[in-house]
Amino acid sequence: MKLKKLALVLTGALVSLALVGCGGGDQAKQDAKVLRVGAAVDFAPFEFQDEGQKEYQGFDMDLIRAVAKEMGSEAEIQNIGFDGLIPALQAKNIDVIISGMTINDERKQKVNFSDPYYQSGLTMIVRSDEEAIKSFKDLKGHKVAVQIGTTSANMVKEMEGVTVTELNTPADCFMELKARGVDAVVNDRPVNDYYINQTQAVGVKSLADKLSAEDYGIAMAKDNADLQKKVNEALKKLHENGEYDKIYQKWFGASK
Ligand code: GLN
Repeated sequence: MKLKKLALVLTGALVSLALVGCGGGDQAKQDAKVLRVGAAVDFAPFEFQDEGQKEYQGFDMDLIRAVAKEMGSEAEIQNIGFDGLIPALQAKNIDVIISGMTINDERKQKVNFSDPYYQSGLTMIVRSDEEAIKSFKDLKGHKVAVQIGTTSANMVKEMEGVTVTELNTPADCFMELKARGVDAVVNDRPVNDYYINQTQAVGVKSLADKLSAEDYGIAMAKDNADLQKKVNEALKKLHENGEYDKIYQKWFGASK
């Protein structure tokens, strides 16, 4: 009986030690200050992964690493589907979203946004042999692919007489266009431009007509005003010290 008790006490002590050990690990992680970032990593040149490259790349990825550094933290980036990003933030699985996310009123009900960090907008890609679609007003009677949960999806669904296919990524949309499943893809202008200019996008062209002008922001939980302040301060610093410009030039080849 006595021995049994001793064994129990010893086991208890070991369990406690193990728990302290884990606690220590968590503490160390907290000390290193990790900024948990969510991004839908299929949105070149903002967030993407090149074959054979471990690190996520792109304008957003460089910017958020610089923001984190400015805040004395390190960015830990998780790849999450675009429509899962705000839920992940609300569930506190991540601290911030940077994912070419447009600041709009609907999202502002759910998240806090940083100051705008990039001016974007929506354009359209069609097949090179497309004759009927020259601008957005020609979309009536046509099939259009958009990425699920995006501003493109919202806007195209409002258009009368347009059949909308919602897919997970812009890459899926472009594939659907080439496969002639749809007649056009509506998507963010810089992503369309990158697709046309930087990749082997054969048989498709982008149109000049713009559907809207949009600003990208970094999103944070509504109850974390302190983080919003820190992120805005970091962004301001990066504008002042030229770091933002450096990152901008790296990805867009011109100064802002
Ligand atoms: N800017 C668009 C939006 O916020 C698309 C973003 C994205 O697909 N990553 O809806």
